[in-house]
Amino acid sequence: MVDSATPVVRFAPSPTGLLHVGNVRAALFNWLFAKRHGGTFILRLDDTDRARSRPEYEAAIERDLQWLGLDWVRKEKQSDRLAHYDAARDKLIAAGRLYACYETPEELEFKRKRLLAQGRPPVYDRAALRLSDADRARLEGEGRRPHWRFKLAAEEVRWDDLVRGPQHIDEASQSDPVLVRADSSYLYSFTSVVDDIAFAITHVIRGEDHVTNSGAQIQMFRALGASEPGFAHLPLLVDAAGGGLSKRAGSLSVGELRERGLEALAVAALLARLGTADPVEPVTSLDALVATVDFARVGRAAARFSEDELAHLSARTLHLFPYEAVRERLPSSISEALWLAVRGNLTTLADAGTWADIVNGSLAPVLEDPAFLEEAAARLPAEPWTETTWKEWTAAVSAATKRKGRALFHPLRLALTARETGPEMARLLPLIGRAKVAARLRGQTA
Ligand code: GLU
Repeated sequence: MVDSATPVVRFAPSPTGLLHVGNVRAALFNWLFAKRHGGTFILRLDDTDRARSRPEYEAAIERDLQWLGLDWVRKEKQSDRLAHYDAARDKLIAAGRLYACYETPEELEFKRKRLLAQGRPPVYDRAALRLSDADRARLEGEGRRPHWRFKLAAEEVRWDDLVRGPQHIDEASQSDPVLVRADSSYLYSFTSVVDDIAFAITHVIRGEDHVTNSGAQIQMFRALGASEPGFAHLPLLVDAAGGGLSKRAGSLSVGELRERGLEALAVAALLARLGTADPVEPVTSLDALVATVDFARVGRAAARFSEDELAHLSARTLHLFPYEAVRERLPSSISEALWLAVRGNLTTLADAGTWADIVNGSLAPVLEDPAFLEEAAARLPAEPWTETTWKEWTAAVSAATKRKGRALFHPLRLALTARETGPEMARLLPLIGRAKVAARLRGQTA
């Protein structure tokens, strides 16, 4: 295992769909780990599956990572690297670790069923290893094209997983994995190893659905003359009921979360802390997450992802943002004072626009008690107004009308904002300004 002083890590999505919270968690841990240890984060697009890979998914993946702030220093596409895979394939063939197989999918299925019916594990029987040159020539003569399997060494592969602790997989009980399809395209498990060697990857950080692959991949690293990187397999995310998130993949895509107005930093904060020993709390920069990322603090159990928790965290994130953090995303009509007045009431950033309209635009006031409001209007102090004006004004109105509490405040809020609830009136009042306040109290649209 490699020392973590300067890690080189990669996030390796296949551009066959949109990123969802599950893959983003892997991306985030890679990125945070690289940042924490002064390392390098590489984006690798696993696009050897030509039929399913699409440029629009590639673009969406990049846009989503950028939105989350997960920047990469190097981008690689597997489709540009086919010559490297060809060379590695030839090396394995020469070493006797990759062998040609001719069974059709139907023949393999038949073998599988027969083994299962005998109560035996459905492990590939390596019949292809017993073919003679003449057998192969005959099969090719019949028009069959070979697929190629990696010959696993019958040993127990061990590694010390950064999340799961000591792992061992008995490769004698596994089927030799197919690395090259009959159409000569490569499977991800092989191309990934070739690239991890070429890019000097020090740590493979990914979901625990890849744990079994790791055993065979460790043998591939060694067969190609390299030592394997460290591994960290993150527990999967489940929904509140404990089920997989895959059926919700559409609505849990990063693009969908963005369109729903959820904050990128809330997505990151939730995914970085979910299932760890650290509390889920809002942050105002990714740096706050960098400082705490630690595989030793990630639990072994599946982490429960809740959309409600994300929405709540997103709102709490907004409530913390200083003006500078959001200025570029706000309409220019929203000043710093307006932002500070309304941020604590927002669910999404777009809600700030609603309050900007209430303060800067015109509205039809809701008059609960016109006579009382007329009295209140008569007692409006002269400008300049500050955040103490509300207190002074309502004290004077209270003294004159003997109203207190809700009877005093509710009609004023309703007339001035046409809303039952909202940000502190003390902060809104000076922003609305005397002319509009006076007009609204008298029922004029202003
Ligand atoms: N393309 C693989 C996937 O998306 C990469 C897995 C890995 O990180 O090794 O599952």
